[in-house]
Amino acid sequence: MTPLAELLARRIEAGGPITLADYMAECLLHPQHGYYSTRDPLGRGGDFTTAPEISQMFGELLGLSLAQAWLDQGSPTPFVLAEIGPGRGTLMADVLRTIRAVPGMAAAAQVHLVEASPALRARQRETLGPQVAWHDGIETLPEAPLFLLANEFFDALPIRQFVRAGTGWCERLVGLSPEGALQPGLSAPAPLAALAHRLADTAEGDVVEICPAAAPIAEAIAARIARHGGAALIVDYGGWHSLGDTFQAVQGHATADPFAAPGDADLTAHVDFEPIAAAARRAGAAASAMVPQGVLLERLGIAARAERLARGLSGPALESHLAAHRRLTHPGEMGRVFKALAIHPQDQPPPPGFEPAPRLTAPE
Ligand code: SAH
Repeated sequence: MTPLAELLARRIEAGGPITLADYMAECLLHPQHGYYSTRDPLGRGGDFTTAPEISQMFGELLGLSLAQAWLDQGSPTPFVLAEIGPGRGTLMADVLRTIRAVPGMAAAAQVHLVEASPALRARQRETLGPQVAWHDGIETLPEAPLFLLANEFFDALPIRQFVRAGTGWCERLVGLSPEGALQPGLSAPAPLAALAHRLADTAEGDVVEICPAAAPIAEAIAARIARHGGAALIVDYGGWHSLGDTFQAVQGHATADPFAAPGDADLTAHVDFEPIAAAARRAGAAASAMVPQGVLLERLGIAARAERLARGLSGPALESHLAAHRRLTHPGEMGRVFKALAIHPQDQPPPPGFEPAPRLTAPE
């Protein structure tokens, strides 16, 4: 048993089974034993990799989209350039390098990072230097035009899972086996107002997920963008809304049992973009249509950028550059399962690469 498994087992013994969200929160962010609190999972020999770690092109192209949105909004100066869940700081470094080509933009940018992990804050300081500010949440970001990035952040937020039972739902909980090991189980069925709208598109036994923290975060971002201008680019794997069990553990680049080694494996779930878009609209901002990552990067010109970068390369470096391009965009790799959504002011067009949500068909 990991030290965290011992702690959780004692907590469950005393207070009964816990929700998947409580379990996930402890596994990822427990101050002493949490997965993110204690390590850099993206480093060499780490457990997983992400788009900005695969190629500089990802950050360059998202940076260009933000830069054009900043120009289109009249170059507000100063402005907050923020990232939530910045990992090793690679995406922000690529964005900062890119916006240096835009007169006045880098000088106007105040970099603010929302990061829960002390280990990753230290890594971000190494990458970006001391001229950035850290926050525990969105709420403390300065009140100013906000240009924000979130890549693979929302998938790390704790989810609750429910299994359809008649017109009610059983919640998946974490309890203990007779031998005292952590073991998933189900609560008794009960009706749930928050899932009333899912009775229409689910059948007996179907699993649906909700991420209670996602909408408040999206709402806080959108409220700032509605008040001060700006844009948020959100990229993650997932879809409009979930159907099925997407809760997964990854350790050493392979999927693992999410209950086997709490604190030692990354836990994620697919991101639902519908509640993020709905929260943004509630807060008075606009949400774009959801677009697959591959399509977004094509629209932003990845083919031309990839060709330009390839000119300086040969041998294994060229091979790896071509593989990275394919990995980011190909529908069989990250191109289709990863989606992107932009939040922007109602009186502004979506940032380049994004299209407005279709007015009549966008489900709220
Ligand atoms: N965006 C980076 C890293 C993705 S990993 C990349 O694309 O490479 C998820 C990141 O979100 C990590 O930096 C992790 O520490 C951070 N994180 C997870 N949960 C968080 C929370 N509740 N609040 C703030 N940061 C969080």
